[in-house]
Amino acid sequence: MTGLTHVTLSGTAYECGVIHGETFVDEIQQNISVYLDKFAYHGVDKQTTREQASDLLPRIQEWNPEYAEELRGIAEGSGISVIEIALLNVRYEVLYAAYSDGSLGVDGCTSFGLLPEVTADHHTYVGQNWDWAEPIANTLIVTEVHRDNVPNHLAVTEAGIVGGKMGINEHGIGLVVNGLVSPNDGDDPFRKPFHVRCREVLEAERFDTALKPLVASLHACSSNFVLGHADGEIIDVEASPNGPGYVYPRNGVHTHANHFANNGFESCMERQLPDTLYRARRLRQALEQHSGDIDPATIKSALSDHFGRPASFCRHIDKNKHPQKRTQTDTSVIIDLTERTLCATYGPPCETTYNTYQLGGAA
Ligand SMILES: [Zn+2]
Repeated sequence: MTGLTHVTLSGTAYECGVIHGETFVDEIQQNISVYLDKFAYHGVDKQTTREQASDLLPRIQEWNPEYAEELRGIAEGSGISVIEIALLNVRYEVLYAAYSDGSLGVDGCTSFGLLPEVTADHHTYVGQNWDWAEPIANTLIVTEVHRDNVPNHLAVTEAGIVGGKMGINEHGIGLVVNGLVSPNDGDDPFRKPFHVRCREVLEAERFDTALKPLVASLHACSSNFVLGHADGEIIDVEASPNGPGYVYPRNGVHTHANHFANNGFESCMERQLPDTLYRARRLRQALEQHSGDIDPATIKSALSDHFGRPASFCRHIDKNKHPQKRTQTDTSVIIDLTERTLCATYGPPCETTYNTYQLGGAA
C-alpha cells in the first residue's frame, strides 16, 4: 500500500454513506474489530460499548440529522449493523472517557498552523502527524464529499466514520486535531461527539460558523482543534467538558501536542506521555528557524524529526510497550488552505512519500 485510497461521495447524505459503506466493507470490519479489542483492553466490554452507541444514536439524529443519515447509509452499504457503525463514530468518547483516570493514555499527534507571513508562497497551511494504533493506518481513507447545500470538502477519516478529522473545504477552511485528557472527561457522555463536530467544521461557509460547533456547547471529552482559513487566520480551540480555551499563533507559527497550553484546565495526558511536553516546542523551533521561507519541503523535513525516538513526533512503534499501547504516525498531513490541497502519507513520513489530493479531483 503506497497511499490512502481516495473516494468521492456524492448525492444525499444517505447516498454518500452508501458509497462509503460499499467501497470500504473490509476496512470498516477491520476497524470495528480493532476498536472492540482496544475498548476491551481499556476495560470497556462489548455490551457496554454497544449500549453507549445505541443510546447516542438518537441524539446524533437530533444534533445533526444528516450525519445520522450518512451513518445509516454506511451501515446499508456495508451490510454492517447501524449500532456497530455508530460505535465507530463515538469511539473517541468511549476511549477518552476510559483514559480520564490518568492511567491509560495512549496517543500522540503533533499539529501546526502557518500564517502567510512565514511561508515562502504566502499561503496558509495547517497539518499534523496523526499518531495512533498501527492497524488503523490500514483503515484510513480520503473522502471527498460533494453533497447538495453544503460546501464540498476533502478529509482523512477512518473507514466507517462519517466525520473526517483532518480536512479542507471549498471555502478554504481547514482542520487538524490532537487528543487531550482532563479529569472530567466522560462524566457526561451524552454530548455532541467529537467526529460530529469535525464534520460540522468542514461544512461551514465562514470562519465564525466553523468555530461555532466547537465552542457553542460543552464537550463529552477533551480534544484540541486547530482551525485555519485560507485568508490568513488560525485559531486553536482546546475543548474540555468544562469549557473551551484558546491559543493563537505566535510570530505566524502555531504548534500543539497533547497537553493543554492554556493554563485554565488540569491536563492529564503528559502523566503517561511526557513526550508531549517537547513535541510542540520542538516543531515550533524547526519551523520558526525558516520563518519567511517555509515551504512544503521544510515542513516535511520538520515532521520527520526523531528526537526522543520512538517517542518523537515522527513516531515509531515502541516494542517495549503492550501492543494495545503502541502508537506510530499512521499518517502525516500537510494542508495548503490556499490551494485546497491535502498531502498525506501512509505511515511515518520518514519512510514514505506524500500523496497529493486536490479538492475537486484527485491529483
Ligand atoms: Zn520516522
